[in-house]
Amino acid sequence: MLRRWISPGRRTVDGKFAWGGASGNACVYGANPEQVSIHQDWLKLRELGDKTSLEEFSLNSVAARLGRIPAASASEDPLSPVFGYAFHFDASLYAEYLRSYALARGVVRLERKIVKVDLRSADGFIRALRLDDGQQVEADLFIDCSGFRGLLIEQALKTGYEDWSRWLPCDRAAAVPCESASPLTPFTRSTARSAGWQWRIPLQHRIGNGYVYCSRFISDDQAAATLLTNLDGKPQAEPRFLRFTKGRRRQFWNKNCIALGLAGGFLEPLESTSIHLIQKGLTHLLNFFPDRNCAPVVAEEFNRLAIKEYERIRDFIILHYKANAYGDTPLWNDCRHMTIPDELAYKIRQFRGSGRVVKYAGDLFAATSWIAVLLGQDVWPERYDRLVDQRDAAAMRAHSQQLRAFIGQAATSAPLHEEYVARRCQVSSVPRTGISHG
Ligand SMILES: Cc1cc2nc3c(=O)[nH]c(=O)nc-3n(C[C@H](O)[C@H](O)[C@H](O)COP(=O)(O)OP(=O)(O)OC[C@H]3O[C@@H](n4cnc5c(N)ncnc54)[C@H](O)[C@@H]3O)c2cc1C
Repeated sequence: MLRRWISPGRRTVDGKFAWGGASGNACVYGANPEQVSIHQDWLKLRELGDKTSLEEFSLNSVAARLGRIPAASASEDPLSPVFGYAFHFDASLYAEYLRSYALARGVVRLERKIVKVDLRSADGFIRALRLDDGQQVEADLFIDCSGFRGLLIEQALKTGYEDWSRWLPCDRAAAVPCESASPLTPFTRSTARSAGWQWRIPLQHRIGNGYVYCSRFISDDQAAATLLTNLDGKPQAEPRFLRFTKGRRRQFWNKNCIALGLAGGFLEPLESTSIHLIQKGLTHLLNFFPDRNCAPVVAEEFNRLAIKEYERIRDFIILHYKANAYGDTPLWNDCRHMTIPDELAYKIRQFRGSGRVVKYAGDLFAATSWIAVLLGQDVWPERYDRLVDQRDAAAMRAHSQQLRAFIGQAATSAPLHEEYVARRCQVSSVPRTGISHG
């Protein structure tokens, strides 16, 4: 059933509590002394009959298969394999941590329901929020973190939403935690299913699971049944259902309001990028912090950057759908034949023609991540980069063997993930929360 569409080890976990969290550029291949990427050597050696898998050049992949966590420290040796990693967090515990961090630094927290948003008549800026206890909160700048509903950015300011469902057709998810299964694996698993895909995020105390699906092709009951029959342990709750529209606000910053998180947009968690985008939004806000007038030119640049970042991640996720080689089901057939955004089409065309990965400003995912997904889904270059021919094949073979030996040694000598977690960050009791993502 599993169509391996993502190179294992793309998101290898080094983490406390383990939650599907930070986004990943964790797929990193070994270094090449020449100016071309190692996968070009690999493509040439493959043409010469070498059957080695590209995964053997990725410390992430080799270590992930062994359930091990290498140290992330960089060696001076240029041949030393690089290890990329991301974190799994328990979302609720992480939120609690951030809350106490902010409160300790003087943030004032009011836990109230917003019942009305008042706008200034002169310029349409937000003047105040009215709370359910009758209080009014006035401010110069508002950050909308109200989730999908976009209470300020949409309901009050009518900013508009760009819907990406034509490229990303899944619109629902069923989520359920289940009991842990041994061994504790150091990676998130994404598995293609007939009408979507399933995530598996191993935590210390349970496994988070979910089926992201397209409601045109499967009912909620069928999706829940599929999810429940594909768990590694006993379910700990009834499946919880979520609905969403993939896309983004037309502007993330409108007047004196900045939308962060789900209020700004939503991309399905195939690459777990939402928290990254929140952090990125905060960084941009600090860099572009406005005065009381919120000059349109500042908001314009903020929006330009944020839109590019969303679109670059969107395209990486669309690639998983477009290049799929899943069996004959309506969802996957539709995706194989859909028209895709021009910049993604160009990127695929360039890769097919030369094996090179085109880089765009705002790309979160490095070339290695693109290569892993492209080759992992059988998008093959017609030829390797001819720059590789500067070296003779024997030298390339020797380098490739040396690299694999380095990687094999680094992976096998690394601690098992279970031991690593037990030593560095074992939970002393089962956390109260039941949320494994989102
Ligand atoms: C299925 C799914 C899987 C996900 N997986 C990942 C993942 O693996 N990695 C990742 O990085 N991200 C993931 N995400 C995204 C992640 O959940 C969000 O980025 C994160 O929850 C932050 O969301 P938020 O604060 O913007 O919105 P929410 O978490 O929805 O919070 C919105 C808040 O606004 C409050 N609110 C709404 N209306 C009012 C009102 N009138 N008055 C007062 N308060 C109000 C709500 O009570 C709520 O607390 C996932 C999301 C989904 C849906």
